[in-house]
Amino acid sequence: MAKLLEGKFVAEIIKEQLRSEITNLKIAPVLASIIVGNNSSSLAYIKSQEKTAISLGIIYKLHKFPENISEKELADFIIRLNQDKSINGVILQRPLPLVLDYIKISSMISAGKDVEGIHPSNMGRLVFGKSGIYACTAGAVMELLKSTGIDLYGKEAVIVGSSEIVGKPIALLLLEKFATVTVCHIATSEAGRLKEHVKRAEILIVAVGRAGLIKGQWIKKGAIVIDVGINRLNDLIVGDVDFKTAEKRASFITPVPGGVGPLTVVILMRNLIEATKLQQ
Ligand code: NDP
Repeated sequence: MAKLLEGKFVAEIIKEQLRSEITNLKIAPVLASIIVGNNSSSLAYIKSQEKTAISLGIIYKLHKFPENISEKELADFIIRLNQDKSINGVILQRPLPLVLDYIKISSMISAGKDVEGIHPSNMGRLVFGKSGIYACTAGAVMELLKSTGIDLYGKEAVIVGSSEIVGKPIALLLLEKFATVTVCHIATSEAGRLKEHVKRAEILIVAVGRAGLIKGQWIKKGAIVIDVGINRLNDLIVGDVDFKTAEKRASFITPVPGGVGPLTVVILMRNLIEATKLQQ
């Protein structure tokens, strides 16, 4: 039976490190958070951000805007935050209303205050293995892998899902650790080849958003399975991996909920502290 990789334990260890880093900074870092509209997932995420920030002594400033805000108004506000020396980091909650272009607007957050690690220049630095600020979920996945104590050098790593904020940055971070990386996406499934890739994964990371996509029988014996997916199924939250069968074959597996999620917000705060250090 697999060992559970619970994010909250790793999160507590990182939080302890962050508390001592904040003491060394000699200021309380300030995170400005922008939300447009009332998306329920975003509202839940900002609550968790605020709670984590307060527990670390970080100042969390929430800015709420109505759904009908124009692109120009939002852009002007972001530019003001970029120029404001009292603000160390800025996060724009997603999703934005459909009329607003998330990529375009979030790229206006200056790279130095981009605590989500998604500014093109932070992404570009990741390609060169130089970024101190990673996309938060990718950072969380790497911390969970580190907590297993297993050396990634030469391991077969398979990522299912290739989004800009999850799959692609994870691929780059795994390459830095010298894993052999395969990235699967919709075309892999459409070609009927998902199972064959998953079956040879020693490290399997799934970030798609489709309950039951990965069958437990496909998991290689002893594999490490990180399930990033979040799906609502009959009032339950489940991942993308068929957990009950997979936990009998894997050596380590993340529960959903309780795996990657609790760590993501802590990595966001770590990015804020990294940004504050660079500004100092
Ligand atoms: P996206 O929708 O941006 O990306 C999904 C990816 O899955 C795409 O690369 C897509 O491929 C691929 N895909 C879609 N269908 C299939 C399929 N049938 N077989 C193989 N690949 C497929 O989602 P995100 O990356 O933003 O999020 C993925 C999941 O992770 C979601 O459930 C989300 O809620 C969760 N999540 C969890 C976080 C956490 O902290 N726990 C944080 C962020 C996300 P293509 O692009 O080719 O269509």
